[in-house]
Amino acid sequence: MDDHRRTELHKTVYLKDYQPPDWLVDTVDLRFDLDEKATTVRSILTVRSNHDTGRGMRPFVLNGRRLTLNVLKQDGRPLDKARYRVDDEALSFTPSSAKFVLEIETVIDPSANTELTGLYLSSGNFCTQCEAEGFRRITYYPDRPDVLARFTTTIAANKKYPVLLSNGNLTGSGDLVDGRHFATWHDPFPKPAYLFALIAGDLARVQDRFTTMSRRPIDLNIFVQHHNRDKCTHAMESLKQSMKWDEEAYGREYDLDTFMIVAVDDFNMGAMENKGLNVFNSKYVLARPETATDSDYQGIMGVVAHEYFHNWSGDRVTCRDWFQLSLKEGFTVFRDQQFMEDMTSPGVQRISDVAVLRNSQFREDAGPMAHPVRPDSYVEINNFYTLTVYNKGAEVIRMMRTLLGPAGFRKGTDLYFSRHDGQAVTTDDFVRAMEDANSVDLAQFKLWYSQAGTPELSVTRSYDANAGTYTLTVSQSCPPTPGQPDKKPMHIPLAIGLLGKNGGELDLKLDSGSKEGSKSLVLELRKPQESFTFVDIPAEPVPSLLRHFSAPVKVKLDLTDEERLLLMAHDPDEFNRWDAGQQYAAKLILELVQDVQDGKPLALDNRFIDAFRITLESGMKDKSFQAFALSMPAETYLADFMEIIDPSAIHEARRFVQETLAAVLKQPLLAVYSAHQDPGPYRIDQESIGRRSLKNMALAYLSLLEDGDVCDLCLRQFRGGGNMTDVLAALINLANNECHERDDALAMFYGTWKSDPLIMDKWFAIQAASRLSNTLGTVKKLLHHPAFNIKNPNRVRALIGSFASNAVRFHDPSGAGYAFIAEQVIAIDAMNPQIAARLVSAFTLWKRYDAKRQSLMRGQLERILSTPSLSKDVHEIVTKSLV
Ligand SMILES: [Zn+2]
Repeated sequence: MDDHRRTELHKTVYLKDYQPPDWLVDTVDLRFDLDEKATTVRSILTVRSNHDTGRGMRPFVLNGRRLTLNVLKQDGRPLDKARYRVDDEALSFTPSSAKFVLEIETVIDPSANTELTGLYLSSGNFCTQCEAEGFRRITYYPDRPDVLARFTTTIAANKKYPVLLSNGNLTGSGDLVDGRHFATWHDPFPKPAYLFALIAGDLARVQDRFTTMSRRPIDLNIFVQHHNRDKCTHAMESLKQSMKWDEEAYGREYDLDTFMIVAVDDFNMGAMENKGLNVFNSKYVLARPETATDSDYQGIMGVVAHEYFHNWSGDRVTCRDWFQLSLKEGFTVFRDQQFMEDMTSPGVQRISDVAVLRNSQFREDAGPMAHPVRPDSYVEINNFYTLTVYNKGAEVIRMMRTLLGPAGFRKGTDLYFSRHDGQAVTTDDFVRAMEDANSVDLAQFKLWYSQAGTPELSVTRSYDANAGTYTLTVSQSCPPTPGQPDKKPMHIPLAIGLLGKNGGELDLKLDSGSKEGSKSLVLELRKPQESFTFVDIPAEPVPSLLRHFSAPVKVKLDLTDEERLLLMAHDPDEFNRWDAGQQYAAKLILELVQDVQDGKPLALDNRFIDAFRITLESGMKDKSFQAFALSMPAETYLADFMEIIDPSAIHEARRFVQETLAAVLKQPLLAVYSAHQDPGPYRIDQESIGRRSLKNMALAYLSLLEDGDVCDLCLRQFRGGGNMTDVLAALINLANNECHERDDALAMFYGTWKSDPLIMDKWFAIQAASRLSNTLGTVKKLLHHPAFNIKNPNRVRALIGSFASNAVRFHDPSGAGYAFIAEQVIAIDAMNPQIAARLVSAFTLWKRYDAKRQSLMRGQLERILSTPSLSKDVHEIVTKSLV
């Protein structure tokens, strides 16, 4: 394509340009005659004008991409060729009446669809992915979320595809001539095209039932490939728990007669909430103890819940336009986080959710792609399915709940659902429901939706012994982000407590008298700088700030090591108890990073070793928490504190701390390891999960010693482990060691599991994430391994994605890691731009590194940009990064 065309294609879309649709669609009648290479799609739309008559007819624009148009009729009569326009992106014409029936027939080639959006083939089955703009690859349609229609779908196919599914309830099925058959589905709920789904294939069905709170029976079905039918129990249980939880926590009842989940192998995302027919990446459905780890089990539960919860927060109430993506995603991520807090342990769940924000979302906020939770422009919407829209968006919802309290928040969501059922709305509508239900003004709070960047709080404290008062002064600021040089102060909930020197919590009473009598308070920050004075404080306390991580911000507060130790031992807020240890470790590691850079000998503070020993030997009830408390901050989190990121020094300093702890505490680590072996058969409950994570944390430390005994221990666990969690933990340790058991173990694992692609993903990922110096060579070899397939997103994420996240190897000073990832981006972009765009994000923070790495990364970005016919997905990220 020429340059002119390219700029046309890469046009920026702005929120401020939003216009309501000129034409609405009431019903859609679809008929698919499925064929791998030439599927015929007939579509009959009843259309009406969205404007008062008398102003003349406006053009009707139907999006469409890579379609062959066979038939176009208005009210039964073929439309004259002179009356309509078709190009690569759309079909448009000016209708002759305000209400009409439009008939369209197109032909598409699912077998040629490598982008995995629209209708495509996965493991020989037909499936669809329409969010965000995939439906336009199926037929011409006003493919925008604010056009809601009732869909009836008939699927005709050869009987080698016995299962034919679409949204809603099954209304008919039967035989056709020539060995074909059909099924008709009707969805009574109006929906945008992005929620449409179709599945046709030879699949096994796992069935169950759920009775809703109004005693309606619902058929539950999970469809998988036949050899996977024994791996659905956990997903089904998770579904039933989600359905019950949403009734209790939000009063939301399921609405169709049947709910279906289909697992497919080739899928760009985790899963998709199509109305009544959720399509899942098989990674988030299939599990058996021998094949899935504890974190796989938790991932499945979380994703099943997330997609189910969308039935209300996304399907019944949907987004007006794609700038509002967080309306459904932020809210639904928050709902799945709450669900997981209820099903597991609130503190531990919060720690893992915050880790995603701090280790990854904060990086997004600090880079060239930084955008608000409600972006105001995009080139390719697929690039905005980000941690900012999803996870920071969830924090914004969580903050509203913190400010309004659980009961006020529930009043707000009840009003939101009842006011907007069946509508396509905006994040402003959501906030308005919260305001109206609680008679509050959230105008300043809404800046969380429009301002990008991570706010920073600077806290100073002063104690007046004579007056018995304690004052905290909090200043807030937010660094500039692309297009937003100056920020306004935000409305921030800051949850706090104060601990006395003996570790007990103090009663909190503000001098203003506004809030008192509690051991934990939520201060509301609104100004650039504010002071809060507490009275009746007998001695200088230790502040516990941002409890349960009450806002997605960074806090600067100079605590002493003693104060951190006190919080680690006594803070009743589990998150802050953990975080005090993390901040202490981060401070020490960052000092060691400086020593590495200065060429000084490294030494670890004995008080830190003692604190670690106390945690290790504490015998906490919640072993999962204990394991988290023993973990060191992630390399990406540590990098965030550095002006110029030095990935090699971070890796070396962090590893030095871990090795020192392992060497000094070898005996206690061994003792913890032996004491937490599974006492009986494998179980997947919170207690057993906690025991395994603590045991495997101890083993991971020990394995850093690279001594023969420990390698034997790993090998024994690897061979004897009856569950994937233990097997994998041992294998990861071996893969990071030069020991001779390494290659045997990897070969044995491959031999056992080579026919299971999801387990092969673990095998690829472990090798690509290895710290060993020959990792890049291994990854390059694995690209040609028979189990690898560059067209499958899970395989790409496992092998190439894991290498791109392997900071020490990706950032190798030679630049070889950069060159490799750039080559892969270019190769994958020609097949699947969405996956290539995820990969290219590894380069976006290039300006934060030293001059040599900067120039190497920049060179690779320029190389990618000079590739002919680059997708707009990759083009947008690369050009924004190079600015
Ligand atoms: Zn979602």
